[in-house]
Amino acid sequence: MTEDFGEFDIIRNFFTPDTRREDVDIGVGDDCAVLTAPAGKKIATTVDTLIAGVHFPFSTLPEDIAYKSIAVCVSDLAAMGATPAWLTLALSIPDADTQWLQSFSRSFSDTAKYFDMQLIGGDTTRGPLSITVQATGFVEPGHIMRRDSARPGDSIFVTGSLGDAALGLLLLNEQKIIDKPVFEYCLGRLNRPTPRVEFACAVAEYCACAIDISDGLVADLGHILEASQKFSQCGAEIIVDAVPVSSELRSYYDRVSNTSDNSPGAINWELVLCSGDDYELCLVVSEQQVSAVVSLADSMRLPLSRVGVINAGPGLQFVDASGESLTITKSGYDHF
Ligand code: ADP
Ligand code: MG
Repeated sequence: MTEDFGEFDIIRNFFTPDTRREDVDIGVGDDCAVLTAPAGKKIATTVDTLIAGVHFPFSTLPEDIAYKSIAVCVSDLAAMGATPAWLTLALSIPDADTQWLQSFSRSFSDTAKYFDMQLIGGDTTRGPLSITVQATGFVEPGHIMRRDSARPGDSIFVTGSLGDAALGLLLLNEQKIIDKPVFEYCLGRLNRPTPRVEFACAVAEYCACAIDISDGLVADLGHILEASQKFSQCGAEIIVDAVPVSSELRSYYDRVSNTSDNSPGAINWELVLCSGDDYELCLVVSEQQVSAVVSLADSMRLPLSRVGVINAGPGLQFVDASGESLTITKSGYDHF
């Protein structure tokens, strides 16, 4: 349904939030938002654009697009150890479709509330469907997780499981639905990633180096290695069998491999390690802090897997459980 809505009707009807954070002096409606940062904290800010047909299939529901547009930014904040606070939204829509706007804005508002954030401003334009969200948060000055602080000897950890979103996208594109629960689980992981924000904010006390996995572990760990080179030669060894995958992904590969002797199917490690959209955390932890990090994850019941170690390089190497080296030729997702 397309109504005769103007730009300001859209803003008033759909993007004037009811939640109110005390640190928002002026929110939506003036030329700028005016905000009060907490004393003694640093501001962390990030922006991400989601474009229809590039970052999500055209068939994606508006409520999933809204959720994901916030979640991917919250994932960036988490990767720095920052607590989410404020959002701005630059929305480009082809027309004023009220049903679409209603679903999108409700989910946007629910998601903002879920992460204890407030929408404080934005921009609304007509054009191809594109959603740009800026998220800002606060971080303790001494607890900022950076990409450049990996050192040889540190352990590499990954939260949750990898590859589910990539498998979801593959199954969606190929319309190859072998197992409905597996398909739905993977599609859920694609559309509704779960940034590990609570764990990230707590673990930042013990962990100096992190990145969120948005372009695949290979690419994102690669960014850590590259950034850390300026201090010391850094490479990494990943034990592929230690990389966490969900029981759903495993069961999918068991099925498609169709082995006669019931032996486990061969997992497509390139899909797991080199695709995007996981929004899990990759942490690099010094030996002294490993037990604190592991206990913290246990206490929060968050799956955390040690997948390898930083060494003196060069580059990223993969081995199986017996130490045999494996070749992964792909890198990660790259727009260009
Ligand atoms: P200006 O022309 O001064 O840049 P706009 O006319 O673009 O302001 O927007 C008016 C007000 O509405 C501003 O406070 C702006 O931040 C807010 N706004 C515009 N679009 C959105 C949106 N999609 N979500 C939230 N706030 C928005
Ligand atoms: Mg404007």
